[in-house]
Amino acid sequence: MHENGLLSLFQNKENVLENVLQKTPFGFSLINEDYVFEFANEAWLKIVQKEKHDVLGRRIFDIFPETEEYLLSIFDNVKNTKEPFYAPEQNIKLQREGLLQDVFFNFVYQPIYSETGELQYFASVVIEVTDLVTTRNKIKNDEERLRLATESSHTATWDLNLKTLDIIHSPYLSKIFGYIKGEQISHEKMRQHLSDDDRINIVEKAFDEALKTGVYQYEARLIDKSGNEKWISTNGKVFFDYEGEPSRMVGVMQDITQRKTSEILLQQSHHQLNTAMDASKLGRFDMDFETQKKYNFSHRFLEILGYDFRTETICSEVFEKHIHKNFVKQRLDALEEAKETGDLFYQTKVVLRDGTEKWIEIYGRLLEPIDGRKAYVSGTIRDITENKNYEKNIKDSEKKYRFLADAIPQIVWIGEKDGQLTYFNKATMDYSGKDYNEFLEGDGWLKIVHPDEQQENRRLWAKSIRSKKPFFFEHRFRNKDGHYRWFLSRAFPELDESGEIKKWVGTSTDIDDMKRQEKQKNDFIKMANHELKTPVTTIKGYVQLLKKMRGDSDDKFLVNSLNTIENQVNKLNILIGDLLDISRMETGNLPLNKKKFSLVGLVTETIEDIKASEQSHQINFELKHPSDIEVYADKDRITQVLNNLLTNAIKYSPSSKVVNVELSVDEDYAVVSVEDFGIGMDKEELNKIFERFYRVSGDDEETFPGFGIGLFIVKDILERHDGKIRVESIKDEGSKFCFFLPLEKKLIN
Ligand code: ADP
Repeated sequence: MHENGLLSLFQNKENVLENVLQKTPFGFSLINEDYVFEFANEAWLKIVQKEKHDVLGRRIFDIFPETEEYLLSIFDNVKNTKEPFYAPEQNIKLQREGLLQDVFFNFVYQPIYSETGELQYFASVVIEVTDLVTTRNKIKNDEERLRLATESSHTATWDLNLKTLDIIHSPYLSKIFGYIKGEQISHEKMRQHLSDDDRINIVEKAFDEALKTGVYQYEARLIDKSGNEKWISTNGKVFFDYEGEPSRMVGVMQDITQRKTSEILLQQSHHQLNTAMDASKLGRFDMDFETQKKYNFSHRFLEILGYDFRTETICSEVFEKHIHKNFVKQRLDALEEAKETGDLFYQTKVVLRDGTEKWIEIYGRLLEPIDGRKAYVSGTIRDITENKNYEKNIKDSEKKYRFLADAIPQIVWIGEKDGQLTYFNKATMDYSGKDYNEFLEGDGWLKIVHPDEQQENRRLWAKSIRSKKPFFFEHRFRNKDGHYRWFLSRAFPELDESGEIKKWVGTSTDIDDMKRQEKQKNDFIKMANHELKTPVTTIKGYVQLLKKMRGDSDDKFLVNSLNTIENQVNKLNILIGDLLDISRMETGNLPLNKKKFSLVGLVTETIEDIKASEQSHQINFELKHPSDIEVYADKDRITQVLNNLLTNAIKYSPSSKVVNVELSVDEDYAVVSVEDFGIGMDKEELNKIFERFYRVSGDDEETFPGFGIGLFIVKDILERHDGKIRVESIKDEGSKFCFFLPLEKKLIN
């Protein structure tokens, strides 16, 4: 408006205008170029809290001295720029209703010019905006508070435009998806992070549902930017536009990974527990600790007691009625004890409705009261009928075997895996006249063993325990009259599935009579040998004498007869020697006269000797070693060994003409082998030929005479030398015997 117009308005319609200006709700005042108030309406006066007469005709700086500097700069600015000055939302502290309050105004200083273009007035328009500012601040604070609340509760907020699918979300949402906090993620991207299964089966379905119902709700898995699996929970609300079309969806999202994992863990452990309970066929119960009444029985519990859990249930009184009368007291004692210790345990027989009896085992533990709930005992019930029957069967069968063991005259004993003997049958006591407990204490049983055998007994037993190999020993036991008798003890380990010893089961058989007979036999052989040896030596002497005197006689018959007698006497001599050896071996009396000698010498000499009396075979000898081989042994005995093998080779190869002898070295042993191409043996026979008196060709006495003791002696001699004998043989093709003697160097070591 032109200022002329304004002035004329002022002048002409002064009353009207003044009236209007006076009554407007915004403050209005006019200050002239000397900063003196010429007009101020009611609203203005109210805002500045002045009376009309305080203001009109006075300079603004006199009225508001504190504003001088500030207002002057504004006025100067308005003058220079000729532009009105806006000062929005100025905060002024005003005394209102007796209180100093923060009040906000929008100020406008409008310059008004005269016709000549000179500044005439400043019009000051003031509008109070306190309500606006405080409301806006309030909203801002509320928003901030909401943001803080959501962020600290790990809740993200989002606002989705359903027409454009643009989404605005709080910074925390980026964090859930593994992005830098605050980085904006598009709606599409969020969907991409969802696990495929859950996107299709959960989220997209929930979204479609939300568009219909207005409520968006789901829990699903996502793979965040770093590849971690997370669980999120989303809640949203759909807003519809005027046409009823869904236009916007607003909601929150929470990271519930922790809750979910513990939920899953809990579920798993519940599942595991249930599986374990199912597998162990355990029933469950809860019992009020104070009243000791059971107020909760599981299905399996009812099942054990013969109830159909689908249709029936019982109370504790009914349960108590099932307890077998012989166990009532025992059960009450257990309950009493539980009151003190918190642990409940008892086994009892129960009688079912149909009269069948079962064994059950109850186990429970006191659970301390939580959350104001009462303390209670939580426990399990187990059907142990089978175990009990099993136990009984075991006891019965043990009884049976003990009875059996006691009924036999043989001594029977049982040892633990560490060798400690824990059971002896009645025969043991009857024989020894000792007390059962005397036997059990330490090595009590050893006291009846003859002192001469105690040490060896202990050694062999310890060896068997260590090696888990059967135990064999001949020893003497003292009977109740103080006399000793010979026993053969044998013990075998009973092994479990893993090959560990469970028990040793041993027997001791009285072999005293046998022993005595054996000794008599040996004494007899010894004596017979002796008695035979003298006449045979005499015969031999005379034959040799006769040969010397008449050996070159023309009487062929006489010469042949003398030769035959000599041959046969020689054989008889060897046989007598063998028999003597056997009885000596058995009594451990075969002395060895060891010295160093050449094996080549021994082999050639022995072959020569044999050749003198046996011309039927050609005996080849090959030394398969660069030099002679020396051993430290009993030369006569080793000659006996080779002699034996050679005579056997000749004897058992009647239709072949060759025997090969080889001498070699194998590692630490000198090896002598004797090979023939005769009747040979099959595998089964091979294992037995070293036994005393064993003869494969037993039925063939005529063709192959012999006693079956040669190889037994051979083996024994070699073992006494720390040597060994091996045989390979093929039926009808021939045999090869090799004997091994330790080389000198080995012996020295
Ligand atoms: P003997 O020859 O007096 O019967 P030995 O103890 O020397 O007794 O031999 C035991 C058995 O071994 C013999 O009866 C024979 O059947 C078998 N045997 C020994 N050497 C040979 C061999 N070289 N070939 C075949 N069988 C043999």
